[in-house]
Amino acid sequence: MAETLPKVWLKPGREKSLRRRHPWVFSGAIERVDGDPKPGATIDLVTASGEFLAYAAYSPSSQIRARVWTFDARERVDAAFFRRRLARAVESRRRLGLLDEPSAACRLGFAESDGLPGFIVDRYGDYLVCQVLAIGAETWRATLIEQLGELCAPRGIYERSEGGVRHKEGLPSRRGVLAGEEPPAEIEVRAGDVRSLVEILGGQKTGAYLDQQLNRRRVAAHAHDGEVLDAFSYSGGFAIACLKRGARSATLIDSSREALALAERETSLNGVREQCRFVAADVFDELRALREGGAQFDLVVLDPPKFVHSADQIPAGSRGYKDINLLGLTLVRPGGVLATFSCSGHVDASLFQKIVAGAAVDARRDAQILERLSQPADHPVAIEFPEADYLKGLILRVH
Ligand code: SAH
Repeated sequence: MAETLPKVWLKPGREKSLRRRHPWVFSGAIERVDGDPKPGATIDLVTASGEFLAYAAYSPSSQIRARVWTFDARERVDAAFFRRRLARAVESRRRLGLLDEPSAACRLGFAESDGLPGFIVDRYGDYLVCQVLAIGAETWRATLIEQLGELCAPRGIYERSEGGVRHKEGLPSRRGVLAGEEPPAEIEVRAGDVRSLVEILGGQKTGAYLDQQLNRRRVAAHAHDGEVLDAFSYSGGFAIACLKRGARSATLIDSSREALALAERETSLNGVREQCRFVAADVFDELRALREGGAQFDLVVLDPPKFVHSADQIPAGSRGYKDINLLGLTLVRPGGVLATFSCSGHVDASLFQKIVAGAAVDARRDAQILERLSQPADHPVAIEFPEADYLKGLILRVH
């Protein structure tokens, strides 16, 4: 196979990360490209001395110039290859018991972590929602969708390929039906006794924040009969989990009116709407207003969007995390709990802990880590690809 593929030669010494099986090649590592491979074409990556490293997808307009499909010289990148990778991903979720429940939701395929760079698949009951985020996956989209259809037999496959990552690859946003039936605008999925409404056609991400499914339950175990503040609530996943576990009331804050409208429907569906207050506001402003009004809560949840998108944003993003945590800590009743998260991959768990520690010092509150949270098993981290390890959280007792 190697002789038929365009060769991309790395600079001397730049093969080190590939030897450790890291799947990305940055533009600066490339010495020269033989021929003129099309965007998304499979290339033969070789060292400065011509030794085979990997087969990869070529992406001429991205800083990540190539994403590795396989480090195995004998493997062909073809339909059977994608079938194997998808089957492995699906089987892993099946073994976790995540496919047992017909109306459950989970992430079925998590890009690089499942050996499928740039391809994400979420399952919401009978429907699958895909994100095609890199040119290599884009090139193989028909194959990926066909194989996925055969493996999972969903009622429909829908696409939500949007956002900055795709634009960096020179790809426009795409959404629409890829196979089978168009999903209804709102799908109900279940996790235990919690029911969620997923807006596949218009909601955030692929319709829900599946990465927090398990953490909601972990956090709710601390709710007891208390008053909960769910800041950056989206559809109220944390608030609902807490109310189902006996919390007395919840205040949900989100700047998105659509998110809060969804939260109203979702809290009704779960029979807890009467216990909720919905506040459409900027969390920073609203927390300050609550502090000034002397409000206190037994459990405060902070689940902000990604503040840090690149390494140069770490200082500004860290200040954002510190501010929000300082405000959050001041709103916890003595002896209560703060559950605080960051989904910025560039802010690792140790930096996040330092930021929260700094916030506790400034807030003059003693805090103890009760639990450290991360992402669930359907968002695995390939051991050689730490970039996939993005979600971290702390559950703190605040005195
Ligand atoms: N906790 C949610 C997920 C939160 S995602 C869950 O468990 O499903 C982050 C949310 O923060 C989004 O809904 C977004 O609309 C909201 N958001 C972003 N910036 C905000 C701000 N400054 N103030 C209030 N909400 C904000």
